[in-house]
Amino acid sequence: MQEEENRTGKKKMGLTTKIFIGLIGGLVLGVVLNLWIPHSYVRDDIFVDGIFYVIGNGFIRLMKMLVVPLVFCSLVCGSSAIGDTKSLGKVGGKTIAFYLLTTALAVSVAITVATFVRPGVGLDMSSIETSEVAVAENVSVTDTILNIIPENPVGALADGTMLQIILFALLIGVLLAKMGERAELLANLFNQCNELMMEMTNLVMNLAPVGVFCMIAKTFANLGFDAFLPLLKYMGSVLLGLALQCFGVYMILLVVFTRLNPARFIKKFFPVMAFAFSTSTSNATIPMNIDTLEERIGVSRKISSFTIPLGATINMDGTSIMQGVAVVFAAQAYGMQLDAQGYLTVIATATLASIGTAGIPSVGLVTLSMVFTAVGIPVEAIMLIMGVDRILDMVRTAVNITGDAVCTTIVAHQNGDLDREVFNRMEENHA
Ligand code: ASP
Repeated sequence: MQEEENRTGKKKMGLTTKIFIGLIGGLVLGVVLNLWIPHSYVRDDIFVDGIFYVIGNGFIRLMKMLVVPLVFCSLVCGSSAIGDTKSLGKVGGKTIAFYLLTTALAVSVAITVATFVRPGVGLDMSSIETSEVAVAENVSVTDTILNIIPENPVGALADGTMLQIILFALLIGVLLAKMGERAELLANLFNQCNELMMEMTNLVMNLAPVGVFCMIAKTFANLGFDAFLPLLKYMGSVLLGLALQCFGVYMILLVVFTRLNPARFIKKFFPVMAFAFSTSTSNATIPMNIDTLEERIGVSRKISSFTIPLGATINMDGTSIMQGVAVVFAAQAYGMQLDAQGYLTVIATATLASIGTAGIPSVGLVTLSMVFTAVGIPVEAIMLIMGVDRILDMVRTAVNITGDAVCTTIVAHQNGDLDREVFNRMEENHA
């Protein structure tokens, strides 16, 4: 791990190292608590549901607190810096194209892996724990599109409805640029608010190692490991798909389009992945993602302030991988055959389902009902995989936000908004 020398010559531990230690420490403690420490007042009420719960969730709440003001201010500033609608449209068009491409690749990876591993064949259904199924409301394509326009922008900000916030902030930014001197005061105000939110993000990020430690320790202390055994093949297939997407597909795209060193990218981006892993929410990761892309990868906020919130909402490649594998798994478990058209339907619905649903814990499991219904698999099949979804949610959220970051870096590079010097700099501690 990279370390930084401070003025006294002593080594100072970087944020990445600290988060890594928090992650591993939390994992070990959580598993030990789960397997070897019997339930008691001190274990459960004082530690797991007391200290770990309060610190871990307190940290997530702090991050969530940043999301709406940060996205709003930095998007207004970013779009007014890009200025004209033409280049904004170009950035937007390219970003959406990359998001769709990576999602289509993700579902293809998932279906290939699952067809190869055959996780559902010969499954002993009676050995699987089941629970109630949450079903997604079917929202039509037309309504999905209409829902991007806020009827009440203040309401959108209050509810954190990301696509509506994005649209409203983009409009303000573009118009501020057009109005020039006439709105100078307001433009300055937004710029200063943006600076303030950046400072606040840095401040909160210093707490990440402790927050991650507590979140992970609590999650693993409460995890029901028994449910895993019959579903190991399913979990293995999803994890393999996620690994191929993250370290294969993304890194190839990164090298082909930007020629950046993929190992260095992963290392610099690791804190964001660890945060997404421990919280299972892409939305709460937005501030850290934008900040890390700027400070360590060299991506201008002009681009990331737009593409990252958009990606957290519409680009969920990890989720699509889980859904692709789940479809094949359930079809095999029920002895159903899926044809090429069925697979195409999976790709289309998995993509559509992710548009307009927020990046929050377990949402992929809920939207999975839309995918199952589209290809005629009984929705009850979701019960089969529910028991192990907690852990897969963690990993796929890390992949979801890595996809957003890779696409953003590529678009920034193509737009001349990637500072390679920042990327090549080796210092660790930016917070
Ligand atoms: N938790 C995921 C996210 O926030 C969504 C999901 O797959 O459930 O990106």
